[in-house]
Amino acid sequence: MSEAEEQRWVTVMLDKLAAQESKRSIGDAELAERAERLSAQYFGGRARPVSVRWVTNQNTRWGSCTPAEGSIRLSHRLQGMPEYVVDYVLLHELAHLLVPGHGPRFWRLLEAYPRTERARGYLEGVVAAGRLPHQPAQRAE
Ligand SMILES: [Zn+2]
Repeated sequence: MSEAEEQRWVTVMLDKLAAQESKRSIGDAELAERAERLSAQYFGGRARPVSVRWVTNQNTRWGSCTPAEGSIRLSHRLQGMPEYVVDYVLLHELAHLLVPGHGPRFWRLLEAYPRTERARGYLEGVVAAGRLPHQPAQRAE
């Protein structure tokens, strides 16, 4: 293999890996399982959602929760983000099943999750990047 061929091969392999990575987003069933696991780990299993699912019609919020129905919805825009970010949003919505609003009691619940601050920073960064007037080299998907 020449150096140029090798370089091309590496590029092709990297593209294939990236494609696999983005296809590996988790489904609704796995999302519900994860919610159960997170609730058990951080809230002593007290948050028990009736349904947890992805939605595509949520573009201004990362997640939402209807405590009366016990339903949690996560924006599909989270798919492909790091696991700790998805877990944070899931945990955030689970916490709303226990405490409505964003008062001190609510944030105290989320303090149990060690990556709350990091995940919030990541999401703030995503929002800020979306507002940049010039976005160089956007990834096509
Ligand atoms: Zn909230």
